[in-house]
Amino acid sequence: MVSDELVVVDGSFGEGGGQILRMAVSAAALLGRPLRVINIRARRNPPGLRPQHLVAVRGVADLTGGSIEGLRIGSTSIEFRPGPVRSGRFVVDAGTAGSTTLMLQSLLPVASFAKGEVELELRGGTNNPLAPPIEYVTEVLLPALRRMGVQAEVELVRRGFYPRGGGVVRARVRPVTRLKPIEVVEARPVRIRVFAYSCNLPSHITERMVRTASSLLRSRGFKDVVEETEVLQRDDPKCSPDPGTGIIVIVELDNGLRMGFDALGERGVPAEKVAERAVEEAVRQLSTGAPVDSHLSDQLVIWTALADGTSRYRATELTSHAETAAYIAERVLGASFEIQQLGEKGVLFTCKGIGLSRR
Ligand code: ATP
Repeated sequence: MVSDELVVVDGSFGEGGGQILRMAVSAAALLGRPLRVINIRARRNPPGLRPQHLVAVRGVADLTGGSIEGLRIGSTSIEFRPGPVRSGRFVVDAGTAGSTTLMLQSLLPVASFAKGEVELELRGGTNNPLAPPIEYVTEVLLPALRRMGVQAEVELVRRGFYPRGGGVVRARVRPVTRLKPIEVVEARPVRIRVFAYSCNLPSHITERMVRTASSLLRSRGFKDVVEETEVLQRDDPKCSPDPGTGIIVIVELDNGLRMGFDALGERGVPAEKVAERAVEEAVRQLSTGAPVDSHLSDQLVIWTALADGTSRYRATELTSHAETAAYIAERVLGASFEIQQLGEKGVLFTCKGIGLSRR
């Protein structure tokens, strides 16, 4: 039984960035447990809350109608007293290019345990550095979550890139009673899709990206590769205000799930180089034979911690984000994790979830 006493989380633990804060706030909201986070983003420069963290935390607080102290830019500690999770429509606006997918990371678990349907409109960046691109959420994360019983649809309404953002993502989340555990230990790639997208840029950029990615993958022995592009110009309502581009390599597995490896375009970096980055990462991680990519390994943690039963998944490598997420899942939610290094075969996560049911 998890206590409803105030839990204190040291934000400098492990990765010591924004993730530990966002996840602790979601976990506290799910249990209705008061939370204090100290030393927020102690391992980042500058430390403390930045606008994108503030907006994600405020979003969760709104969803629970709870109270929160210390929520201002630069703050290194907050205290959160969550109320019951509400249903209805919520708009969370970063104002800038703050990542909508990182907002979703904190809001989706909470929304899944609301009394009724939750509709989220998230405004900000949809394809940011150091965050999942929206394609990763829809193509990789959501299929895994649906297998656990999550009922969410996520729609990209408009892309948003740095610096102005302007992107819009809508999510419709129906409540779950309990989540099922997941088992992803052995699975083999059956097909690879390479998808490149751009806004306000000439179409040869995405074409060069997918061509480079597919020829590199074929040269590494992956035969079934499909190329897809999306090129948007200013007159398209889905086009971002600022120019931007990126690519994702989606590896479809024989168990129906996917792995994802992505790279964002940068000014001065040739399209071929961007494609090469995503492919090199895919090839490196796929060589372990593990069916869960390194980003999914940390993003699954909160969900397996909430599930009713024991989840097992084999990831390509152990990241400090995953270790940090497991720490929060144990400390705030009361789940138990075992992380077993398997040498060249990656790392096996075993999580005994708490079987949360709707409050
Ligand atoms: P901050 O640096 O703002 O303090 P942090 O480094 O602790 O934060 P975040 O960057 O907030 O943590 O969290 C990163 C999250 O985004 C993780 O869940 C990680 O798996 C995910 N992520 C980062 N880059 C990618 C990517 N290229 N593709 C998919 N997921 C990604």
